[in-house]
Amino acid sequence: MKKFLKIFGILFILLLAGIVAWTFTNLQDRHPGYTADLKITGSVTAPLSAGFAAVTITPEVPDRWIDANNDHKYKPKDGDTFTDGNGNGKFDPVWIAGFSNSKPANGIHDDTWARTMIIDDGNARLAIVILDAIGFMNDDVVDVRKMIPEETGVTYTIIAATHTHEAADLLGLWGKNPLKSGVDKKYLAFVKEQIVKSVVEASKNIRPARLEISQDLTSAIPMVKDTRKPEVFDSEMRMIKAIDRENGQTLGSMVAWGNHPETLWSQNLLISSDFPHFLREGVEKGVFNEDSLVKAGIGGVCIFANGAVGGLMTTHPSLAVKHPFTGIELSEPTYEKTEAQGMQLSLIALNAMDTRAEVIDLASISLVVRTLPMKIDNTMFKLAAVLGVMKRGTVGWMKMRSELAVVKIGPISFTSIPGEIYPELVNGPIDAPEGSDFGIAPHEVPPIREIMPGKYKFVLGLANDEIGYIIPKSQWDVKAPFTYGREKSPYGEENSLGPETAGVIHKNLQEMLGELGE
Ligand SMILES: [Zn+2]
Repeated sequence: MKKFLKIFGILFILLLAGIVAWTFTNLQDRHPGYTADLKITGSVTAPLSAGFAAVTITPEVPDRWIDANNDHKYKPKDGDTFTDGNGNGKFDPVWIAGFSNSKPANGIHDDTWARTMIIDDGNARLAIVILDAIGFMNDDVVDVRKMIPEETGVTYTIIAATHTHEAADLLGLWGKNPLKSGVDKKYLAFVKEQIVKSVVEASKNIRPARLEISQDLTSAIPMVKDTRKPEVFDSEMRMIKAIDRENGQTLGSMVAWGNHPETLWSQNLLISSDFPHFLREGVEKGVFNEDSLVKAGIGGVCIFANGAVGGLMTTHPSLAVKHPFTGIELSEPTYEKTEAQGMQLSLIALNAMDTRAEVIDLASISLVVRTLPMKIDNTMFKLAAVLGVMKRGTVGWMKMRSELAVVKIGPISFTSIPGEIYPELVNGPIDAPEGSDFGIAPHEVPPIREIMPGKYKFVLGLANDEIGYIIPKSQWDVKAPFTYGREKSPYGEENSLGPETAGVIHKNLQEMLGELGE
């Protein structure tokens, strides 16, 4: 008996040691000592140049189960057996991220992309890469930066995600079950290589450029629903169009607007970029009513950048989108609805580019970047980090490395936000409703857009990281009594690092925007 206890004791210690080692490995800092901190205050205006590129990141969807049920809607069940191309019966699908676990891609509707815009003033070279993905974590961003060749001459790279809910998992939360990562390591490595390719190509495509900047602050509002009070949106649309100064050709464009790309909703099992696909097609190639061209496209590479999508900006199935030509109101989450939305958005963008553009060909780039540790208060996030479901290292105990950036290029400014920020924090006003957990007045004031310089203020969401929802502290609501007469806690807090996150981000941005200057 004593011997048994001894063996049992040794096994227990070994098991414990294994768990500690496993935890340690998962939490280990993947980029010790790394910081992206940067401060460039461009003082001399100079001729601008720009370059664009679009490189696909479409995953390979195994065709062996594309037609498993002939309707692209096959979902695996326990006890299913599969025959893959090698006949080994292994079920190893591409997991679609967003909504719920266990959504295997059954095919591809449209390519997903790493699209890059580079702007250069002869002193600093800024690359903005937008990925059709649910998100891209800071550790992975840093991996990519370390891979970008020096010849590209890039001073700073922002890698943001569109947050499409219809593409392959790159964060890990949407695997077969909540304990299994949905990220395919080979696919993640492929995405990183394609991002590098996109930046390299864009740098080769750099031409002397004139930027035409425009905005439409109202037309796209009806296409977003706010599913959590207070009702505050980020549905103003802003555009940059880059024209070759020597031959007048369009190099590319950026269209920015804040909404979840999830119009296709939860039952779609085809890989897609959601509405950004149709928006980009419309801007580049034109908007067609059946076969006839209604509005000409501008050519070049169009990039869609998302904004403040927290709290929660969505084209919910209960919100109808009007088809621009048939006038039919489309509610059901279908490709037809998503295409109608994309057409509406491209018409708004193209019309604003035509009629309200401000032209600049001289400017200087100013840039302030801060790497900062973000505290993880959320127990589920801690667990996901410990278990390695979400593969990201920590810097210090339960802190993750993240990043903020602010940029000014003449009348344009960019703020790069590492997650899904509530529009209240960006555009105001923040509410302090009765029943909130802290009972405080609005804490993160003034609104970020108010303190950004220039006339055209682009707020890039899910940029250089996805840390989840960034929620005003005075609206934090986990404990009863609840705000706005709710009977239970609203959706949001469970996918946030914690109630202090917004304050840390706001304080740092305020300082950084101060350093950026007017
Ligand atoms: Zn989201």
